[in-house]
Amino acid sequence: MVKERKRLEIKGIVQGVGFRPFIYRLAKNYNLKGFVFNNTKGVIVDLEGSRSSIENVIREIKEQSPPLARIKGIESKKLPVKGYKDFVIKYSRKEDEKITLVSPDIAICEDCKKELLDPSDRRHDYPFINCTNCGPRFTIIKELPYDRKNTTMKKFKMCRDCKVEYEDPGDRRFHAQPDACPLCGPEVSLVDRKGKEINGNPIDKTIKLLKSGKIVAIKGLGGFHLACDAKNKEAVSLLRVRKKRPNKPLALMAKDDEVIKKYVHLSNEEKESLESPKTPILLLRKKEGCTLPYEIAPNNKFIGFMLPYTPLHILLFHKDKDIDVLVMTSGNRKGAPIIFKNEEALSSLGDIADYFLMHNRDIHIHADDSVLRIPSPDSRLMMRRSRGYVPEPIRSPIDFKRNILGCGGHLRNTFSLARGNEIFVSHHLGHLETLESEESYERGIEHYIGLFNIHPEIIAVDKHPTYYSTQIGKKMALKNDKLLIEVQHHHAHIASCLIDNGVNREAIGIAWDGTGHGEDGAIWGSEFLIADLKGYKRKAHLKYKPLPGSEKAIEEPWRMAATNLYTLMGEDFLNLDIGFMKRLDLDKWKTLRIMIDKGINSPKTSSMGRLFDAVSSLIGIRDEITYLGQAAIELEMIMDEDKKGTYCFDINKEGEIYLIDSAPVIRSIVDDLMNSVDASNISSKFHRSVVEMMVQVSKLLREETGINEVALSGGVFQNLFIRNIGTKRLREEGFKVYNHNNIPPNDGGISVGQVAIASKSIEDN
Ligand code: ZN
Ligand code: ZN
Ligand code: FE
Repeated sequence: MVKERKRLEIKGIVQGVGFRPFIYRLAKNYNLKGFVFNNTKGVIVDLEGSRSSIENVIREIKEQSPPLARIKGIESKKLPVKGYKDFVIKYSRKEDEKITLVSPDIAICEDCKKELLDPSDRRHDYPFINCTNCGPRFTIIKELPYDRKNTTMKKFKMCRDCKVEYEDPGDRRFHAQPDACPLCGPEVSLVDRKGKEINGNPIDKTIKLLKSGKIVAIKGLGGFHLACDAKNKEAVSLLRVRKKRPNKPLALMAKDDEVIKKYVHLSNEEKESLESPKTPILLLRKKEGCTLPYEIAPNNKFIGFMLPYTPLHILLFHKDKDIDVLVMTSGNRKGAPIIFKNEEALSSLGDIADYFLMHNRDIHIHADDSVLRIPSPDSRLMMRRSRGYVPEPIRSPIDFKRNILGCGGHLRNTFSLARGNEIFVSHHLGHLETLESEESYERGIEHYIGLFNIHPEIIAVDKHPTYYSTQIGKKMALKNDKLLIEVQHHHAHIASCLIDNGVNREAIGIAWDGTGHGEDGAIWGSEFLIADLKGYKRKAHLKYKPLPGSEKAIEEPWRMAATNLYTLMGEDFLNLDIGFMKRLDLDKWKTLRIMIDKGINSPKTSSMGRLFDAVSSLIGIRDEITYLGQAAIELEMIMDEDKKGTYCFDINKEGEIYLIDSAPVIRSIVDDLMNSVDASNISSKFHRSVVEMMVQVSKLLREETGINEVALSGGVFQNLFIRNIGTKRLREEGFKVYNHNNIPPNDGGISVGQVAIASKSIEDN
């Protein structure tokens, strides 16, 4: 037999997913000699044997790779035969110049679940069971290559039995870095607020505490959750009071999909997504007569559900049939990131949780649960892309010739590192409004740069001068003498949508959100742009209105309702016989009027979010908010979708720009209120009017430019009605429509747009 030798370089998600044992088994099957090892580029395989066997192995690598592996490319090179005696797995080697993909954290697999619940298994009831197909990854990795010594598992020395499995290429735990057992691995403990350990089985005790209405902070994969029995109204209310979170919906974890189906509707696609190894939170529509306490998601038609994704979660649900649905909300203080260290949990959550179920497997980097909606069977709406998804990169339609850091926005921040044709979008970092979130933001950037070895040559920031992310980006650029590129917020939104759809062309971009710094210093938010990844022209927006009190006006939607009425009819509105006037505080109005008239702390805004706020307050839904977007969300929730009809609005051209005047909409709503039309009906007509604004202006822009493709982005497109009906209406008019799928339409996607625009803007220079 003529021998041949080939060296393969396999790139993609190929580490920590059982790839080396897979190769080992293949090589053994085909009687090939050589070796396999991980390096920072991926997996290297050296194969020696008959040509047909080598070709067979290459084919099987492509066709039958392990479930969690994602092969991006295989390069092969013929080399002179060496005469290897055996096939072996070699340990990792460090090669600095390139990067490997790090696997996201993965929900417990079926095999591990079976062993966990099998009384005869040596890992029966062991809350840290895992294998090469499941378990923690991203959150425990300190640096690459992915080896146990580079993870937070380093401190646990494997026992003999674990070591045998770890070293046996035929075993499911072969080189499973977080592998452990009750003898040698991490342990759970239950402590009270003072950190004093509670005697007895921590999990059994926790279940008892939850049953009795207590709030327990539970350490998970990417941080602490605050948990209580979701069926216990008092416990839920207590959690709300202690967390100072009066209205924002709380996420739930249910034992299985049968439990979930008792409370909400569940389509096949939704079930599939819930049960996927990524186990996101899915926003699901409540069933009529849902028996869960109203306090879970007040004024909302949806409840966020997820399934247990760690062995610890499984055990909590397995031991007592009364506990089948728990509140599992992020363990953080208002505005601060999720807590992921034991000591911090005690100090920061001590006045919220009664007890703490923690463990000694450290989390190196936090990751919140991801949040997803499924607007239609063939689309996804990512609202928060974090655990389970990060740090898997987004494929880009453009090639990044230089490494770029996009610093993101201010709220729901993420940053992005771009290199080659990939964008590594960070985990969710939240609103950069507290010292803690600012620190975690900087730590996150540092970690990613080190982990992926992507040192940014260009830094892109939002044009907003006072955003923390902008300031950090500027500081980094100055310190390291890097090129700084400022990107307009709504252009970044549209670019992120184009990237999400793999599009590198000009489109009509509709970027609707709450706030973004405009080129003219005004606060933009209802922008129609003719945009590509390089530049944009602003072509239309809502007519400017004052935003009296700036930030305050966002927290108090009644201010925008009053402003809209005042700009419509002057102080005559004070005589209107509508509910809003009965709620309006006249003293507060007097102050507000002076601010508007004199332009004191009243920047101009074209924000679509503020128009939603104004209508929400005007018709009596929400005058003041306790969480971002609440007024608009509750306006959406009250809508009667079966009601048809729209309000009129005007479009006037001023110079090059179309101005949409919403005054006629406000006037008609006032008329409807005087005629006692239902709020649910008004909301529907308002939503439909806003959709028509999209359609009418897009048609005008198509006439002008010949462009027939529309990209929809910005926080407003988290509104399912606006997204679905807007898309439908635009398609009826012959447009090709791009919606977000994998990148959030909200400011969580800003950093993706930033890196694309920065890359394009240097291309021709
Ligand atoms: Zn497993
Ligand atoms: Zn062990
Ligand atoms: Fe935005």
